[in-house]
Amino acid sequence: MPLDASADISRRAWVPCPSCEDSRACQPCHDGQVCDDHWRFLLEADGRNMFVQCPACLHRWWHDTRFGAGTRRPKGEELREFPPPGDQAA
Ligand SMILES: [Zn+2]
Ligand SMILES: [Zn+2]
Repeated sequence: MPLDASADISRRAWVPCPSCEDSRACQPCHDGQVCDDHWRFLLEADGRNMFVQCPACLHRWWHDTRFGAGTRRPKGEELREFPPPGDQAA
């Protein structure tokens, strides 16, 4: 499986890969910190789900961020949308 055409190094997500589990023994990843070695390409985002691809094993999957689930946010409040890529000045 090749790298996805929409893979962009500027759009990354720090989630563990269920396929190769390359971050399993990594302390920064275990602590939930941003790690230089273990990140995934963020291909798509749909609500609280992210479609990500692992650059190490090229596995692609939908990751449920659980963001907004079970939180005490008031009813009717929309999930905030990310600004479109390329919007921020370099
Ligand atoms: Zn992987
Ligand atoms: Zn790591």
